[in-house]
Amino acid sequence: MKAEDRRENLTRRELLKSLAKYIPAAGLLWISSGNLSFGTEKNGRNANYGMGIYIKRCIGCGRCADACKRENNVPLEPFFYRTWVERYSVYMDGEVKVESPNGGIDGFPPVEHKKPLLRSFFVPKLCNHCDKAPCVQVCPVGATFKSPDGVVLVDEKYCIGCRYCIQACPYGARYLHPEKRVADKCTFCYHRITKGMRPACVEVCPTNARVFGDMNTLSSPLLRFKRMNEIHVLKPDLNTEPKVFYANMDGVVR
Ligand code: SF4
Ligand code: SF4
Repeated sequence: MKAEDRRENLTRRELLKSLAKYIPAAGLLWISSGNLSFGTEKNGRNANYGMGIYIKRCIGCGRCADACKRENNVPLEPFFYRTWVERYSVYMDGEVKVESPNGGIDGFPPVEHKKPLLRSFFVPKLCNHCDKAPCVQVCPVGATFKSPDGVVLVDEKYCIGCRYCIQACPYGARYLHPEKRVADKCTFCYHRITKGMRPACVEVCPTNARVFGDMNTLSSPLLRFKRMNEIHVLKPDLNTEPKVFYANMDGVVR
């Protein structure tokens, strides 16, 4: 086959893969995502989705992480999570122990009491759908993008598996899908929320520790959550403007 014919037969993805070799990690090349269709247009409104988490309500049952894996076909092996639960144990001597065995899916062993314990609590984590998302900024092919309703998504058709976004995310919210070889992470269950349903993790939480909503809708439970609680976000100094908000977060959480 002639070189010209081979070039014509390249799929767009292959073309992007070969292009990526010549694009530096911090490259900001944006390849138009005009062809992407994720159903946002069906909403017919300008939403701005986010999530609230009542840390004090979380009992560390891990049902959220389990439901997420099942809903989104996340690989069942450990190390691959779209959402996970961490347990913080703060000891009198200043030690802070953070653990998340199998993402919290199987629950947690009893807290070690070998030395005096001050407090222990659970913190569910997931992609923060940052307004100023470093992952979006570094993606060399525009596969990671922010939807019109404020959800950070990955278009698998365009992702070349270069891992730049995984390295750029300061929250460890992304992983490389072991079979698809594309970046994967929480989508707020985009396939559900665009049909008016709540994300799977919110739906199954037995203590209503997770609240989901549209910040552009006055009656949103998320707006009420933000009004009624002292709110924090993770790593605020990074200026990523996360849209996962925590109520009464302990100062040791990072
Ligand atoms: Fe991107 Fe990480 Fe922010 Fe999610 S938490 S939007 S993956 S930088
Ligand atoms: Fe915490 Fe609710 Fe998740 Fe259970 S389902 S770990 S209570 S957030």
